[in-house]
Amino acid sequence: MGGRGVESDEDEITGGGGGGQRTFIPRVMLRDDGEFCRIRFLTEHDDIFWELHHKNMVGKDFRGYALCTKSATGEDCAFCNDGVPANKHYFAWVYELSHFYPLTERAKETIKRRELKGKKVKEGKQTFYRVDTEEVLLMQYSGYHFGAVEKRAERHGTLLDRPFEWIRNGQPGDTDTSYIFEALDEEPFSKELKKIATDLPDLEDIVLGRVSSLDTKEAASDDADPFEEEPAEKNNGANEEEPF
Ligand SMILES: [Zn+2]
Repeated sequence: MGGRGVESDEDEITGGGGGGQRTFIPRVMLRDDGEFCRIRFLTEHDDIFWELHHKNMVGKDFRGYALCTKSATGEDCAFCNDGVPANKHYFAWVYELSHFYPLTERAKETIKRRELKGKKVKEGKQTFYRVDTEEVLLMQYSGYHFGAVEKRAERHGTLLDRPFEWIRNGQPGDTDTSYIFEALDEEPFSKELKKIATDLPDLEDIVLGRVSSLDTKEAASDDADPFEEEPAEKNNGANEEEPF
C-alpha cells in the first residue's frame, strides 16, 4: 500500500480495466450538490480532445470510464464486443485556482483525509470550505456537459480570457446531474499560465495512456507501476456515483 500519488486516488476516475488504460492524472471532480471549482482553461477550445469512452460496470459497480480502443486506435474493443454503448468525452487541461466544498459529511471526510488547508467562506447563502488548490487538473466530462463551454467558445472565440466556475448541480449518485459554467471577470492569461500550458503533455497521449503522470512528459516506461496490484485504493463507497 502507499506510494506516491495515492492520497488523491480515491477522488479520481481510474482508467478502468478494459483497455489497459490506467491513469493517475488528477481530474476535475465535483462530488456534492453545489460543489464547485474556480478554474482557468489551459486548453483552447479548438484543442479540446474528444474520444469515445465506455462506462465500465462490474455488476452494479461503476468502475470508471474506459477508452474505446476501437475508436481510438482501431484495436479490438472488449466493451464494443459486449455491446456496451460508448459516448464521447471531452478532455481539456485546466488550472484549478480554488475548490469549494459544501460542508457535507462526505466533504468533511475528504478534507480531513487529504489534509486540505482552507477556510470557511460564504458564497451567497451557503457556506463552503474553500481550498486554494492551484493545481493542474484534467477536465474529462461527457459531451452532454459540453454545451455551455461550446457556447462560450462560439460567442467569445476563446476560453482563455478569464476564469470560470464549474458548478455541480446534482446530488451524489444522481443520474441527471448537470453542470453550470459561469464566466467570471476577464483576467489576462498570465505568463505563468502560459508556461504551465506549454509544458503539459498532449491530451491525446493522456487519453491513449501513453503518458500517465504529470511528473514527466515521457510515456509510461518500464518504471514499475506501484499501483499494479491495487487498482483502487479504497473501494468502499467509491463507486456509488458517477461523476459525469
Ligand atoms: Zn469500444
